[in-house]
Amino acid sequence: MRDSHEHAAARLPYRHVHDFLIGGDARPADGEARTPVVDPATGVAWGSVPDADGAMVDAAVAAARGALPGWATTPPSERASALRRMADAVERRAELLAITNSLENGSPLAETGGAAANAAGILRVFADMAWFLERSDVRVFPNGADETVVARDPIGVCALIAPWNFPINLVVIKLAPALLAGCTVVLKPAPTTPLSIRFLVEAAAEAGIPAGVVNLVTGGAETGDALVRHPDVDKVAFTGSTPVGRRIAAICGELLRPVTLELGGKSSAIVLPDADLDAMSRILVRSCLRNTGQTCYISTRIIATEANYDAVVEMAAATVGAARLGDPLDPETVFGPLASYAQRDRVRGYVRSGIAEGARVVSGGDVPAPFPEGAFLVPTVFADVRPDMTIAREEIFGPVLTILRAESVDEAVAIADDTPFGLGGIVFGRDEDAAFDVARRIDTGSIGINFFASNHHAPFGGRHDSGLGVEYGIEGLSAYLTPQSVHRRRR
Ligand code: NAD
Repeated sequence: MRDSHEHAAARLPYRHVHDFLIGGDARPADGEARTPVVDPATGVAWGSVPDADGAMVDAAVAAARGALPGWATTPPSERASALRRMADAVERRAELLAITNSLENGSPLAETGGAAANAAGILRVFADMAWFLERSDVRVFPNGADETVVARDPIGVCALIAPWNFPINLVVIKLAPALLAGCTVVLKPAPTTPLSIRFLVEAAAEAGIPAGVVNLVTGGAETGDALVRHPDVDKVAFTGSTPVGRRIAAICGELLRPVTLELGGKSSAIVLPDADLDAMSRILVRSCLRNTGQTCYISTRIIATEANYDAVVEMAAATVGAARLGDPLDPETVFGPLASYAQRDRVRGYVRSGIAEGARVVSGGDVPAPFPEGAFLVPTVFADVRPDMTIAREEIFGPVLTILRAESVDEAVAIADDTPFGLGGIVFGRDEDAAFDVARRIDTGSIGINFFASNHHAPFGGRHDSGLGVEYGIEGLSAYLTPQSVHRRRR
C-alpha cells in the first residue's frame, strides 16, 4: 500500500504548500509553524501546510472585507451564474480532489469519488435559489394603510470553519449559501485536511468569482480562534465537535455575533417488529457506519425490541463482518483507516470500554487490525448494550455499532431520546406510516424512514448538544442574510 500511495501522492498538484490564498494571491507564510499531512493508511507524511498566525488572519479578513461591497452588490442572478460555473470547475477536478482527500483522511474512494459531484450539486441547488433574493417581499400592516418592504442583505464577512471527516462537503454547504447571499468568506479547514479544499478555491477563481471573495487560511485551534474573535468578522459557521462548538458559542455570545453550529451526534436506528432486515442490511453500513463511522448523523445505536432482537444482531454482525476493510484507494473498499492515529486510539479506547462494561462483541472487537502501519481498526458490533454504558452514550466517531434492547416501541423511543444530542436517526419498519409516527416522536433535527440522506432542499441541523441553526435549503441560505424592513405608506 505504501508504494502505491506514494506514487498516487506524487501525481498531486498540492503537497507541500507554503502559502495561503488571500485576495486572489498566493500569500507566502511569514512564520515557521507548519502542519504535516499524514496518510493514515501508511503513516507517511506526504504533504504539509503553513499555520496562519494572527497577522495572516488579519490579512485574510481584510481581503474579505475589501471584496464585500462589490460582491454584495453583484445581482443575485450573476452570483448564481458564478456558482454554476464553479460547480462545473469543481467537477473537472473530481479525480485529483478525491485522491487528495483520501490520502488526507483515509476516506475510501467510494466516498471521496463523489465529493466533487456532491459539491457541484450543492452549488447548483443554491444557485437555483436566487429567486429568493430577487423576489419582491412587501407585507401590508394590519391597519391596511401602510406596508413594509422586506429586503435581505448579505450578513457580511463570514468565517467558515470545517472538520476533517467530509472536508469538501462541510465547506461547500457553508460556502454556497454564503456566496449566493453576497457574503465574502475566510475558510479554515481542519489541520488534517488542508489540501483538498484548494481545489474548491481554485474552482472559485476559475469561475470568475472576484479576488478576495473566497480566502483560505490553514492552521489549527489557534487560527480558528483568531478568526472567531476577529473584530471584522460578521458571522461564524462552524462544523465540528461539541466542546469546541460550545467555546465558539460562548465567544460569539459575548460578541453578539451570529453563529451556526453543526456539532456531534449519537443517533439511533429504531427497528420496529415489522422491519425488513434484508433491506436494512443493504443500507446498514451507509446509514449506521458511513465513512468508517466518522459521520456526524449516522445511527450508531441500533434499538430493537424482543420481536426481532436476535435477528437484528445476527444481520448486523454478518453485514459489518463481510464489508471490506482495506486500502482507501481501492474502489471496492468499504472501511478505510481512521483519519488519524489519535482518532484510532480514541476509538480503540471505546471498544475496550465496551468490553470492560460487559457488552457482547458479535463482530470485530479488540483484535489486531490488518496493515499495522496504518490507523486501521477492525469494525466492531456490540450486542447487549445497556443505555448506561459509555459506548451507548458518547459519540465514538469510528466503526463501532451498539445494539440495545427495548421492551416496547415506547421504550425504544425513550432510549433514543436519552442522550444529550439530537442530530439524525432512522426508523426501520415495513408499515411506513407507523414508522413515520414513531419518527415524529423522536427529539432530533433530521430522521429517515428506512434510509437516511441529506436533502439539499431541506434544513439539516442539530438539537441540544448537536448544534444551533441549520444548513441546506432556504433556511440554510437565510443564515447568511440579515433582513431590513422598510416601512412606507401603502401605494
Ligand atoms: P473539532 O471541533 O476538533 O475541529 C473542527 C474545526 O474547528 C477544525 O478546523 C479545528 O481546527 C477548529 N478548531 C478547533 N478548536 C478551535 C477553537 N478553539 N476555535 C476555533 N476553531 C477551532 O472537530 P473534528 O475533530 O475536526 O471533527 C469531528 C467532529 O465534528 C465530531 O464531533 C462530529 O460529530 C462533528 N461533525 C458534525 C457535523 C454536523 O453537521 N453536525 C458534521 C461533521 C462532523
